[in-house]
Amino acid sequence: MRINFCGVRGSTPAPGIDFVRYGGHTSCLALAHSGGSGSEGRSGTEGQRPTLILDAGAGLQTVSAWLLDGAPFDGTILLTHLHWDHVLGLPFFASGDNLRSRVSVILPDQENGESADVVLGGMMSPPYFPVKPTQLRGDWSFATIAPGEWQIEGFTVIAREIPHKGGRTFGYRISDGHSTLTYMPDHCPTTLGPGEDGFGECHATAIELARDADVLVHDAQLFPSELAAEADFGHAAADYAVALARRAGTRSVVLFHHRHDRTDDALDGLAQRLGGGSAPEVSVAREGSVLDL
Ligand SMILES: [Zn+2]
Ligand SMILES: [Zn+2]
Repeated sequence: MRINFCGVRGSTPAPGIDFVRYGGHTSCLALAHSGGSGSEGRSGTEGQRPTLILDAGAGLQTVSAWLLDGAPFDGTILLTHLHWDHVLGLPFFASGDNLRSRVSVILPDQENGESADVVLGGMMSPPYFPVKPTQLRGDWSFATIAPGEWQIEGFTVIAREIPHKGGRTFGYRISDGHSTLTYMPDHCPTTLGPGEDGFGECHATAIELARDADVLVHDAQLFPSELAAEADFGHAAADYAVALARRAGTRSVVLFHHRHDRTDDALDGLAQRLGGGSAPEVSVAREGSVLDL
């Protein structure tokens, strides 16, 4: 599969000269099957047309120009949860808000049983926003899923609930039969205890999702020095992501969901401190990058 990193930040977008190299858009990955129908993006990068998008953060708006070259989207947007930074790109997805699009939006089923379009409408409807999700142009559908195994756009998706804060959150393990990606952008393992090294419990669900995966894209919002003061907001230290990957036998880990005020220089420092290595290989997520598995 091909993984396009369209937004790598958490909490809120970060424009400005201090955020140019790693990018300021919030969480969004676009997955394509290798060998799918070719598409030449504006960047000139040879690629495949994405059919499965993970989270609809601000990065979603880049999918239209970069990967679809303005063509209508035909696929699924799978949300980990409903926090602003994972949904705010939804109304600005030009290739989805298109008379010829087909967009299936799937999110975790809600504790109160609310339907997908109603719960999404809670953040996207007057007076907060001029239109509702159901008023976007094209053929849109909205559904919730329970934890379990699902077939979505030719990918096998295992969904499990993981600790975060304020709303039900799923982690996903996604396979195309050849390669496996584990995606946990928002994860608060300290909720379950300090774990062996104080960064949080490498709990059974996280290990199950990440076990022997080719790549783990994981919450790295916090530096260790920030953990005591900020873990209560629901995120993980970058060091936890590396420890989890090591415990689960993951081949590589991509540190993701950078704090909104984390500058390029600070992320260079993170890459220097934790990057490289061989088991697991560690890298820092960068908007606009592409990973072929
Ligand atoms: Zn987030
Ligand atoms: Zn969140």
